[in-house]
Amino acid sequence: MTNSFARGLIMLPDIAANIDAVRHEITRMCAHADVPENQPELIAVSKVQPLEKVRAALEAGHRVFGENRVQEAEERWGTLKPEYDGVILHLIGSLQTNKAADAVALFDVIQSVDRIKLARALAREMEKQSKSLPIYLQVNTGREDQKGGVLKEDLPALYNECKNLGLSVVGLMCIPPVGDDPSLHFALLKKFAKELGLERLSMGMSGDYALAAAMGATDIRVGTAIFGARDYA
Ligand SMILES: *Cc1c(COP(=O)(O)O)cnc(C)c1O
Repeated sequence: MTNSFARGLIMLPDIAANIDAVRHEITRMCAHADVPENQPELIAVSKVQPLEKVRAALEAGHRVFGENRVQEAEERWGTLKPEYDGVILHLIGSLQTNKAADAVALFDVIQSVDRIKLARALAREMEKQSKSLPIYLQVNTGREDQKGGVLKEDLPALYNECKNLGLSVVGLMCIPPVGDDPSLHFALLKKFAKELGLERLSMGMSGDYALAAAMGATDIRVGTAIFGARDYA
């Protein structure tokens, strides 16, 4: 008991300082790349992180968070969200059609729309719940079997169907394959967004957010660099 308490104290990082450091680096990189007008949204990815760390971010004034699983997000944010004004929750993980209702109820932005069936389910739920959430289309730029995201050849059809359904598509999102140079994937995402006339680019995580900022990311999803490593144990 004493042990784990002491360890908790020692290991609790300074969340506010980490957020400041990440923001500072984003601003520096935007200036460096001569895109100082770009002020990317910093999405603090709170999945798997203990409540005390998430609260520390909230107490530091941070309000934009990302979660990748609906049920876990409900458990955490169902009570936490009403406690703080202005919390914005992004769903950044793959979504099953049968969770669409729960996702629309809890989240403010859905970044992981990657197939027509899901787009239809979301449109139905948004209508039912009288909500119109901004959505992003997730693109599988690395063509990985195990990863969510639409393949580039299916992107225009998905985009058109979303428009027909009345969904508010604001941008694209990608997760580059581990070990690949992320700049290739960021450049592809930017190209696809331009072709569709979409403004927002959700790209960059703890390992590559500075690069993403320099390449024009509008939404940067950072977990580890803010909260420390996730403990899946
Ligand atoms: C977990 C996750 C992140 C954050 O990853 P870190 O490397 O911890 O910053 C970003 N985007 C998505 C889609 C994730 O699932």
